[in-house]
Order: sequence, then structure tokens, then C-alpha cells
Amino acid sequence: MGENENTKAAESFDLIIIGGGTAGLTAALYAARAGVSVLVLESGSIGGQIAVSPEVENYPGIPKISGAELGMILKKQAESFGAIVRLESVKYVENVPEVEGDEACGRMLKRVATRRHLYTSKALILATGAANRRLGVAREQELTGSGVSYCAVCDGAFFRGKDVAVVGGGNTALDDASYLADICSKVYLIHRRDEFRGNPETAEKLSAKPQVEMVMSSQVTELLGSPVLTGISVENRVTGEVRQIPVSALFVAVGQQPQNEMFRSLVDLTPGGYIAAGEDCMTRTPGVFAAGDCRDKKVRQLTTAASDGAVAALAAADYIRSF
Ligand code: NAP
Repeated sequence: MGENENTKAAESFDLIIIGGGTAGLTAALYAARAGVSVLVLESGSIGGQIAVSPEVENYPGIPKISGAELGMILKKQAESFGAIVRLESVKYVENVPEVEGDEACGRMLKRVATRRHLYTSKALILATGAANRRLGVAREQELTGSGVSYCAVCDGAFFRGKDVAVVGGGNTALDDASYLADICSKVYLIHRRDEFRGNPETAEKLSAKPQVEMVMSSQVTELLGSPVLTGISVENRVTGEVRQIPVSALFVAVGQQPQNEMFRSLVDLTPGGYIAAGEDCMTRTPGVFAAGDCRDKKVRQLTTAASDGAVAALAAADYIRSF
């Protein structure tokens, strides 16, 4: 029984979806609606990355909504069609013959183990998204929770009325800076290049806020203070000038990293760790699909995650029907 210590009988579903973000919950909605029994396993927050987005305003049909609320709506919608969503962390997955020990039987089940449960399914959708990337500066780990944060929405309120910094140039950094500008006295937005990767319209709106200072072409080289953060050293990459900025918090928003190592026996991974699967969401293992930000793709947006979820679910439903 692999590395699983659980001796209870496995609970069976047609489809298991690993990840309860936009891709996973959309897949659950489509598959459940197609009459497939579905279990969604989520290890963190329902909604995945959007769970910490203060405001989502680019989801078609919904002019403005908080990410946490959108996540809960997606969950309820999937559940209304019969999908089961559980907060459990997956420990390992494996492909096993339907008849134990009979590799030649031709029908392979997916076995999914969490700390407390063992599940099997005919098909599996990997929708694990990606986790926050670390900045990679000394003492980052030590000061995490003591001034260094990866979630402006979760921790911003602790720094109400204080001076803070955000590092990064993507949409997350822009959104975080915008959110913090409303509750903090000053927000430094530090980006390593002279133009943002995120939406120019958002950047323009942000630059009009008097409490926001853009520190461009610059990188954070040092975290100051102990036991809590009291400031940062920032180096201008063009002039070499080093500046110390007193801040109570540094919000790191430098992108995401996929976490797909656990699935290496079932899928191919790109050098960056993303799951190799085309627009059809199919991986090299029959019955295993990849959807959303964990998949190797160009555009990672809520809409493309939702689109992947639908494609993967319909492909999985076809696979299950012919099982
Ligand atoms: P991202 O788009 O990958 O941006 C990461 C940013 O961090 C880039 O500006 C990058 O700089 C910078 N960076 C990376 N490593 C760094 C390091 N070691 N030191 C300093 N800077 C570093 O990531 P994201 O902003 O988290 O967004 C992820 C995806 O979600 C994107 O597709 C984004 O559009 C989407 N998203 C959308 C919304 C929305 O639509 N409202 C909100 C949030 C996120 P370079 O630019 O120089 O590479």
C-alpha cells in the first residue's frame, strides 16, 4: 500500500481533483454537472491564490468582488451539483492496477493518500496552482511573521497607519500596494526594472496616489532590524546607490512557484516545475489531467484557470465513461 500508513478501506470517487482554486472548483462544477462523482482536496484556502486577492475586477460578469468571496461562490456552486470539497493535504498519489497486483488488467486507478484518508478514483485532475516565491534575501525566513509577509490582505491591517514596502512588479504587487495605500501612511513599491509587468492602468492609478512612492530599477538587498523588521536597504541597479528605507513591513509579491514534485511519477515537469500538458490538459498518464496555473502555459489568469477547469473536467468525464 505505498507509503500510506492508513489501513482503512479506500473511499472511491469517479474523479479526484487536487486543488480547490479557480481551476479545481470549475472542474468540480463541470464534472459534477456531467454526473461524475467528484472529490476536491484542498490543503490551504478555498479559492487558492484568489483567496487573498482583495479585489477581483476582471472576472467576466462580476464587476468587482473579493477573491475570498469568489472562492466561496465557486465552492458552493460546485457543491450544489454534488461535488464534495474537503480540506485535506495530499501526501502522495500513485497509479495502481484496479485488481491489486494485476498490472495486466489494463484498468489503472488513481490512489490518493492524505494524512488521514485513502481515496481511489478513475481519473485525477491536478489543479495545484502555485505557491509564493521567496525574495531570496538574507534573514527572510527569520523575519517572516515579524514584518515580512507574503499576503497583504491577511497581514496589512497589522500595519495600519505605518510605513510599509511592497516588492515586485506584477499584478499582485500592484494590487497589494493599492490595498495597502488605503490603510498605511506610506507605501514604497520596489521593482527591479523600470517598467511594471502588471497592468499599466493599475500602475497609473497607483502612481496618482500621493502616499505611494515607486522605487524603480531597484532591489531589496538587506532586511534591517531584529527581532522585528524596522527597515530595508534598497540598491538602485542602474546607479548603484544604496538607500535605507525605514518600514514596519515588507510585503513580498515576486510571483509564484509551482509545487508539483509529488506528481513526478505520473506527469512530466518542465524545467520550471510546471506540469507538461497542452491546451487539452492531458498529461502523459491516461486519466491524469492538469488544469490552471500548475500547467505549463503562457497566460495565467482566473479566466484561463476556469477555462482549463472546464476542459479538464469534460476530458475526465469522457475518460470515466469509457473506463
Ligand atoms: P508575476 O506576474 O510573475 O510577477 C512577479 C514580479 O516579481 C515580476 O515583476 C518580477 O520582476 C518580480 N520578481 C520575480 N523575482 C524577483 C526577485 N527575486 N526579486 C525582485 N523581484 C522579483 O507574479 P504575480 O504578480 O504574483 O502574478 C501571477 C499571475 O497572476 C500573473 O499572471 C498575474 O497577471 C495574475 N494576477 C492577476 C491579478 C488580476 O488580474 N487582478 C491579480 C494578481 C495576479 P520582472 O518583471 O522583472 O520579471
